[in-house]
Amino acid sequence: MATQSRAAKEDSRKYWDEKFETMPTAELQKFQLRKLKETVAWAYERIPFYHRKLDEAGIKPSGIKSLDDLAKLPFTVKNDLRDNYPFGLCAVPLEEVVRVHASSGTTGKPITGPYTAEDLEQWTECMARNLWAAGVRPDDIAQNAYGHGLFTGGLGFHQGLTRLGCAVVPTSSGLTERQITLMKDFGATALFSTPSYALTIAERAAEMKVDIRELPLRVGVFGAEPWSTAMRQEIEERMGIKAHEAYGLTEQGGPGVGFDCVAQDGIHLNEDHFLAEIVDPVTLEPVPLGEKGELVFTALQRRAMPLLRYRTKDITRLRREKCPCGRTFIKMDKIFGRSDDMLIISGVNVFPSQIESLLLEIAEVEPQYRLVVRKKGYLDQLIVQVEAKKEVYDAGPARRLEVAAKVMAHIKGMMGIGVDVELVEAKFINRSEGKALRVVDERPKQLR
Ligand code: ADP
Ligand code: ZN
Repeated sequence: MATQSRAAKEDSRKYWDEKFETMPTAELQKFQLRKLKETVAWAYERIPFYHRKLDEAGIKPSGIKSLDDLAKLPFTVKNDLRDNYPFGLCAVPLEEVVRVHASSGTTGKPITGPYTAEDLEQWTECMARNLWAAGVRPDDIAQNAYGHGLFTGGLGFHQGLTRLGCAVVPTSSGLTERQITLMKDFGATALFSTPSYALTIAERAAEMKVDIRELPLRVGVFGAEPWSTAMRQEIEERMGIKAHEAYGLTEQGGPGVGFDCVAQDGIHLNEDHFLAEIVDPVTLEPVPLGEKGELVFTALQRRAMPLLRYRTKDITRLRREKCPCGRTFIKMDKIFGRSDDMLIISGVNVFPSQIESLLLEIAEVEPQYRLVVRKKGYLDQLIVQVEAKKEVYDAGPARRLEVAAKVMAHIKGMMGIGVDVELVEAKFINRSEGKALRVVDERPKQLR
């Protein structure tokens, strides 16, 4: 009973951390400047790599007088982390490190993320804000199907859910049938996974004749990979839940960097912890607020590995606007994609999530797809492989051709690019348990 009344009381709280989440922008920026100065000094004094980089750039920590001075700092890129693998960018002795994560290595050799006890505490708080904003509450039964281990997703969510006081079920990812059985048996009310794995769970449940919409499940927080708004709606419909979002990266501590709110329109960034900029990925000059480009983060409170101006390779835009939820944190658009996954087809920049949205508008196909890039003479050719609904596939080659032509025309009409469409049979595309692989590049390495 005691726990229940605590849960009920806390339920009425609108924000997890009202002070920061609703802080007026001017006050927040003052706080950011103070933390920026501290962090730059911390990195300069303790990390030889930054000492050298700042000296080369001719800037001393005392030279940071306003937030605009951020632009004077050098960038940090993934290769800097690889070159300093495993602990070359660690600002504290290993005795002070209490956890080490590593990136999932989607795009190459893993990189490490060390944390002090203080870093872990802050990460947990950032995750708690994220979960609270999604409507997760202490009385939720929380099935955490993010991979547990080196990947930051599993433990990041675990900490946040534990902080809220949920009944956490750490299923980790995989063993999908067991996920569904446990979801049913335990009466899970909240699910946490990558969006592509959520879709895998929904599909398997349907095959097992379990209707997730009839179960107590009511909310999910999904992230760790790009997904379109159409995909969010698809998951909401198939599971009968509200699908919310988490954004983050190992280099900045994992999930909890940004999160969406009840408006489900853009992602608030935890601005007291992360200072965001958008730069032109070619010139590296900051772009005006509201323009699209590469997202860059400076950690403001991290102690073990405070990265300055880290280039995420994620493409989005920032918006400073009044949000119906009342939070003052800046918002970013849903990530369009990673610049690594950006394809240039007939001179047009194409991200997998754009194709994903269009495929979801075609009733005859499943939202299971991959993009194959090949060379055709001098040109790049994009082949969209998408699974046909079973009845469509079974109707024979003529019907398949007809649907493939329909998909092709839709993509041409909406994006102006000519692609080839291969309608493939059910289960042709590997089902994701973590981050889905959307692009298969078959071009010779030297021609990419
Ligand atoms: P890896 O780079 O090996 O995938 P991480 O697990 O650190 O390692 O992944 C971080 C990246 O995942 C981000 O830079 C971004 O590309 C992607 N990501 C995380 N959350 C989201 C999200 N909500 N929407 C889109 N992309 C996301
Ligand atoms: Zn909001």
